[in-house]
Amino acid sequence: MKNIVIFGAPGSGKGTQSDKIVEKYGFKHISTGDVLRDEIKNGTELGKTAKEYIDNGQLIPDSLMIDILASVYDSFGKVEGVIFDGFPRTIPQAEALKSMLAERNTEVSVMLDLEVPEEELMDRLIKRGQISGRADDNEETIKKRLTVYHNQTSPLIDWYKADGKYTYIKGTGALDTIFADICDAIDKA
Ligand code: AMP
Repeated sequence: MKNIVIFGAPGSGKGTQSDKIVEKYGFKHISTGDVLRDEIKNGTELGKTAKEYIDNGQLIPDSLMIDILASVYDSFGKVEGVIFDGFPRTIPQAEALKSMLAERNTEVSVMLDLEVPEEELMDRLIKRGQISGRADDNEETIKKRLTVYHNQTSPLIDWYKADGKYTYIKGTGALDTIFADICDAIDKA
């Protein structure tokens, strides 16, 4: 059983590469962003709360995210592997993930850090917004999300280095080259 954290700034390709991992390895995929967007679509209370944060480019409070994550994880039952995409995004979330997995006698196998330079992230997200219609893929919100990434999420790089799980992945270039690097890291984990 492998637990893979796919990490990176907004627009670094976490969702795209997660789909390829699912296809090759048959792992389950938790995208906390997708979970929240479904809640919004279904008009739930959680969706209403989440929408305000998402539209502002802010993170949803940790306590809420951690509960959601544990319930999705437990709904999978016995599986070969799980990909965590968009979680953790803060140090308290990383600590919560570690204890949640420890309670279930498992642990993060590897953290894959998809590194993409800031100008390219901006370009990719603006282009994605034109296709996806995602409300948070507009220039103003993208800038806020990148600031949130730098302030709240990027400290996880050192956190996972200290935890011995960090792997750098060059996130630019051909999709298949990036995926091949990811597969190497997963196979070694
Ligand atoms: P994503 O699809 O991963 O880019 O997430 C879209 C938005 O959902 C983020 O900008 C946050 O507002 C919210 N979100 C997703 N995952 C998390 C998380 N782990 N913690 C807090 N907020 C999150």
